[in-house]
Amino acid sequence: MICCPNCFNSPNLKEHILEKGFTDNCDFCSSIDIKCIEVSDLYDMFSPLINLYREAERGIDYYDNDEPPGENLPDVINHDWEIFSEEFDYDKMNDFFEELVNYNYHSKDFEPINLYGFWVDGNELDYSVENLWDDLSDHLKKERRFIISNERIENILSRLPFALERTYTEIPAGTEFYRARVGPDDADEKWRPFPRKEMGAPPLEKTQGGRANPPGIPFLYLANSISTAISEVRPWKGAYVSVGMFRASELLKVIDLTGLFYISDPFGISELGFLVEDNALLRRLSKELSEPINPSKSQVEYVPSQFLTEFIRDKGYHGIIYPSALDSGKNIVLFDDKLTTCRNVKLFCVNDIKYKHSRVIKERSAAKRFK
Ligand SMILES: [Zn+2]
Repeated sequence: MICCPNCFNSPNLKEHILEKGFTDNCDFCSSIDIKCIEVSDLYDMFSPLINLYREAERGIDYYDNDEPPGENLPDVINHDWEIFSEEFDYDKMNDFFEELVNYNYHSKDFEPINLYGFWVDGNELDYSVENLWDDLSDHLKKERRFIISNERIENILSRLPFALERTYTEIPAGTEFYRARVGPDDADEKWRPFPRKEMGAPPLEKTQGGRANPPGIPFLYLANSISTAISEVRPWKGAYVSVGMFRASELLKVIDLTGLFYISDPFGISELGFLVEDNALLRRLSKELSEPINPSKSQVEYVPSQFLTEFIRDKGYHGIIYPSALDSGKNIVLFDDKLTTCRNVKLFCVNDIKYKHSRVIKERSAAKRFK
């Protein structure tokens, strides 16, 4: 069976087919008279992707009477990477994968791939993001605070600059951001917001540790909309909030952690497995930066995200964009508050706050459900 460039989303895969293909009618979409390629000839392009997964193992991933975790391989790959285009006939997805791996089975000495088994993430068992973050976290919190002396973590950090480069983005000079502060206290008497000079980063001596900054080193936390800026200071109903508009005074070179997947095209990338691991670490950092500071938690909890932020700063970037956990907008932390200037400040009142909730019920384990 043959497929064509229109079957896929990946620019690298499309290019590969255009280069190696022959003109024919595609078996998987309605394209005719187009460059096509035998599905089996794409195996080498697909194998790094397939190698990101392994079959769930009894005794490790699940026990005798449990339903194994995971999904069949075509579904796992399709869900995680959305490789097929809208033109592709999804009823033929399993045919596609059968053709892809059968060739491999017959022509080389590989073990047959059990497409319809239960597939889960990772080749190795210590490959998960949780382990990665926990290792870094434990090392910084319990062993070394400022210098890494652990080979595995050093290895990951030495690769991280490449992952950072792929999340790099530039924000043009003149772009507007917002920063909010609850108050001032006499807002309902004077109807005036804080003055511009009081809307920037706090002075050194008053700087508390944040998600990104260590105590005593002020960073400027901004948002891309007024509502996100207001949500981030978690005001109460009826509170007055001053919102400053800041304008970038030069081109800002930043890391953008708001994308869900930082690998937009998984085909034709060398060392895909390493990239996935590095990106997992960045996704975790993104999550850690988004969550509001919990005053009852020890300052030590924020050391790992402060460390990674310092690592990013050290590579010459101006800041990090990360999602807001309190609003649908984005936040940006800038390491130097002189990169923007506050142009005006306006006073707002919080008219209403909506909380959404759901009842917490203890999750029953898979084991109990299937016994
Ligand atoms: Zn096609």
